[in-house]
Amino acid sequence: MRLPFSLVHHSKYFQQLRWVHTMNPTTPPRHLSKTIVIMGPTGSGKSKLSIDLTSRFFTYSEIINSDKIQLYSGLNITTNKITPQDQLGVTHHLLGEINSSHSLTPFEFRSLASGYVTNITSRNKNPFIVGGSNSLIYALLSKKFDPNSNIFHDPKPDTICSERQYNCCFLYVHVAQPTLNQYLTKRVDEMLDSGMLQELHHFFESGSFDSVSPTGLRQAIGIPELEKYIRYTKCTDFNKDAAKAMYDDAITQIKLNTCQLAERQVEKIQRLREIGWDLHKIDATEAVTASLRGERVGEIWERDVVGPSVKIVKRFLEE
Ligand code: ATP
Repeated sequence: MRLPFSLVHHSKYFQQLRWVHTMNPTTPPRHLSKTIVIMGPTGSGKSKLSIDLTSRFFTYSEIINSDKIQLYSGLNITTNKITPQDQLGVTHHLLGEINSSHSLTPFEFRSLASGYVTNITSRNKNPFIVGGSNSLIYALLSKKFDPNSNIFHDPKPDTICSERQYNCCFLYVHVAQPTLNQYLTKRVDEMLDSGMLQELHHFFESGSFDSVSPTGLRQAIGIPELEKYIRYTKCTDFNKDAAKAMYDDAITQIKLNTCQLAERQVEKIQRLREIGWDLHKIDATEAVTASLRGERVGEIWERDVVGPSVKIVKRFLEE
């Protein structure tokens, strides 16, 4: 198989992937690769759960990102990438690894990510696939991926669609939609406090906007919504009130688009269930509710999310 090596940002990945794709007699057959998949809408706590599991319980694990926007380098705040500090030393692959002038197709994602699955498994570790892009998760895991058909739009998908190339355990982190919407609205404000607007100003001023692919990183929520405001603030006849109105509109739109993204992601997860993927639902609603009230979340998160997930993954790995 030929990999799109030129897409990969750093040479260490080039070397790693080249090694993966040479014949390795210790590499288990694909269908035996035990792979854990953490799914869920944006804001449900997938990244936190993945670090809780891989740093404390399943330390022989590495994470492969499956968020289609976080694949690209740059805009770390706007795309809400987990910070190196929060990664707690757990190895992440395909997180900010793809050159943002490129737009990675699901087929290319499948090639790159399956290279990592093979590599991780051949070192006797467990791959954790973590991210909200269900179309990428489907592209990676389905046994026979057809780039020309879309199971998320097809009213009657073929049963072959449910077959997978790896032995998978799925954790679906669920948060009731009204609670999630409240949290996502608050998260946008927190991202702005963390420097999202400054990051986007720099993105436009440095010319990055023109160099990134329109079908890749440029689709990140925040860019289209704030473009008009940011360009307006560069005008010489800049009017403060008009700018404020544009800014407020943009932020309202970002909040709305983020909530809509979460709803679409949940619909796609339902579709995967309908075609027969056995997803273990983990309910994080109470933990998110507590965090919205400013209460201590730790114990509820452990009880409702980490505890049940550890049990499920342990059982799967011992099978
Ligand atoms: P689709 O079929 O709509 O492409 P998908 O499952 O492939 O769906 P999603 O993860 O649902 O992909 O993302 C759809 C869109 O949501 C992206 O194109 C982007 O606009 C936005 N989006 C997704 N993830 C992020 C992110 N981390 N940061 C900013 N925007 C994002």
